[in-house]
Amino acid sequence: MRIVTVIGNRPQFVKAAAVSSLLRATHEELLVHTGQHYDDELSTVFVEELGIPRPERELGIGGGTNTEQTARMLAALGPLLARERPDAVLVYGDTNSTLAGGLAAAQARIPVAHVEAGMRSFDRAMPEELNRVLTDHLSELLLCPTEVAVANLARESAVGRVELVGDVMADVARLVRPRAQETDGPLREAGVEAGGYLVATAHRAGNVDDPDRLRALVALLRAMPLPVVLPLHPRTRARLEAAGLLDELGSDGRVRVLPPLGYVAFTSLLLRAAAALTDSGGVQKEAYLAGVRCVTLRDSTEWTETVDAGWNTLVDLDAAAALAALERSEPAFRPELYGDGRAGTRVVAALATLTA
Ligand code: UDP
Repeated sequence: MRIVTVIGNRPQFVKAAAVSSLLRATHEELLVHTGQHYDDELSTVFVEELGIPRPERELGIGGGTNTEQTARMLAALGPLLARERPDAVLVYGDTNSTLAGGLAAAQARIPVAHVEAGMRSFDRAMPEELNRVLTDHLSELLLCPTEVAVANLARESAVGRVELVGDVMADVARLVRPRAQETDGPLREAGVEAGGYLVATAHRAGNVDDPDRLRALVALLRAMPLPVVLPLHPRTRARLEAAGLLDELGSDGRVRVLPPLGYVAFTSLLLRAAAALTDSGGVQKEAYLAGVRCVTLRDSTEWTETVDAGWNTLVDLDAAAALAALERSEPAFRPELYGDGRAGTRVVAALATLTA
């Protein structure tokens, strides 16, 4: 089979790391990078580190509003798919690249396989939620990471074939953990000790685009009881600079602002943190898998199992709620969630059942 895979942002590079090499052992893959994240530190750094094949096509489409960006991707992907005529198009997650890849393929009557299908935050104000719902309803193969996702698709009567494959990011987390355990260099660089700091990430539009919310985020990070190591997403950096808040954030040294890190360095920090603070879906899950408590800077999550198991607390941007969550003791149990580390193998097997 010939598969066109469309990726475009940081977590999609991580997800492709679980699938692309396996896929290429038995099928032909053309990897298309839309350019949604065009900074090397959010994209090509993962090519070397995680052994992802170098994308064969680079569309160079970043910036602009969500609708403009999606429209430009559609305009580029339509002719590309008409030329390549793959047997299927593979997309991951919930970004503009996901929706554009899925819609361009469906319009060209090429079957779409969606990895991370069925995830819902039930918050339609999130651009990601719109991308998820729409991509699921145009996909022929819906590859779910969790039982909750399978149930969501059943409730919505999605027409595609649903398979529970496990979580591809969990495959990568397992694979990389030994490398991350070996190095504590990132802690030394940040000037923190194992167990004596919080690791934080934040970049959701809902948290950083509105200056009032951004101010609340800065206040929350500065109110934490331990030093906060914050590898800063370029979007957040730009918003902080525009609001004149970047200097204030790092002013007393409690918040250690770093550039975005490679996956191994970030995992090294996560594994040794007292807790994670994040608005990222991927980091909530990786914290759970690492046995690190998570305080989620949102009021909803798609990864509800982590909350149900007591390892994740949703606090939105309420600093008092975050402090209270950090004081709670660690749950005694951590049920195995998100699969056995072989989700990528199941994705490849499921793709083989698709015929154009
Ligand atoms: N990550 C990374 N370096 C960093 C911060 C995060 O490699 O400095 C990884 C993290 O381990 C996870 C992914 O990037 O696998 C999450 O990406 P992001 O937060 O951009 O996406 P989201 O999960 O919010 O969609």
